[in-house]
Amino acid sequence: GILLAVETSCDETSVALVRGGTEILSNLVSSQIETHRQFGGVVPEIASRKHVETITLMMEAALRESRVAPRDLSAVAVTQGPGLVGALLVGVVAAKSFAMALDLPLIGTHHIAGHIYANALIGEIVYPSIALVVSGGHTELVLLEREGVFRIIGRTRDDAVGEAYDKVARALQFPYPGGPHIDRLAHEATEVNELPRAWLEPDSYDFSFSGLKSAVLSAINQSKMKGEPPVRPSIARGFQESVIDVLATKAVRAVREFGAKQLLLCGGVAANRGLRETLTARCGEQGIPLLIPPNALCTDNAAMIGAAAHLKWTRQQFSPLDMKADPALSLEEWSVRGEEA
Ligand code: ATP
Ligand code: MG
Ligand code: FE
Repeated sequence: GILLAVETSCDETSVALVRGGTEILSNLVSSQIETHRQFGGVVPEIASRKHVETITLMMEAALRESRVAPRDLSAVAVTQGPGLVGALLVGVVAAKSFAMALDLPLIGTHHIAGHIYANALIGEIVYPSIALVVSGGHTELVLLEREGVFRIIGRTRDDAVGEAYDKVARALQFPYPGGPHIDRLAHEATEVNELPRAWLEPDSYDFSFSGLKSAVLSAINQSKMKGEPPVRPSIARGFQESVIDVLATKAVRAVREFGAKQLLLCGGVAANRGLRETLTARCGEQGIPLLIPPNALCTDNAAMIGAAAHLKWTRQQFSPLDMKADPALSLEEWSVRGEEA
């Protein structure tokens, strides 16, 4: 089936056409980053208004680029949640109207299922699989026992990784979003300012980044008091190494414990060079197949929503036309229904 997919959960307006859950026919992303940068983060009201301004144009452009006629579409997919409620609402209303006008089924889709199934756009997912989700709002280890069935085995107890990156970057006076700046600085460093790792209980797959963030902030203050330049590559390096060591170690342990055949990396922080390099090296040593989407499919985009929605399309599990945007939508509950093992 060919799905038209819409994503407006945060600050990217995106529309894509995806065939068979694996093949991208078009994937247009309009980022609002420049607009929000002056405020140091995403302003919800502005995000909603920008989505309203662009969504119709994006839908037309994505259809045109794909050369798919509306009558050849199989369904309309849209991010139902989680995300900013006002932003989600714009995509949901646009998708519903389009589905109603063309008499197509509607598929409300989970944003994080989308990030995970971005991997289906670049390779074959084999089960059981473990997904390491690292984004601006989420840090989770997810077990996929079967296709479309999600179980969260670990999650952050405080900040998400992307959030921690952005806060540290802000303390170092970098503009929003700061993740890529810290990543670059860490690679330039010739020394490492060692920082603690939050392993939590020995058997836990949970994460915590707020202690590390505080340690970074106090290291920055110490530098300032000693009259050293506050932007220290060694601190960025220490922060990045601590984050990556914990993420990679827990992900590899989960693959082993759950007998997974593969590790999937996803979410905006999957664009991080250090994380990609470390996971590639450790999975290589341990013989674990690893999938990592290219950067454009790691950050928010509608193609990933089309890929995840396809799981529901093949099973004819559609959403009612009175579906509501749900900023607290649960990933586990979004799993495909039926097929109990
Ligand atoms: P969620 O998916 O949880 O709703 P989101 O959609 O806002 O959150 P994404 O767009 O998936 O998040 O990711 C954005 C985050 O990724 C930002 O916090 C940004 O700083 C971070 N990021 C992007 N590139 C890098 C990088 N190279 N290193 C570290 N972090 C990065
Ligand atoms: Mg974003
Ligand atoms: Fe996202």
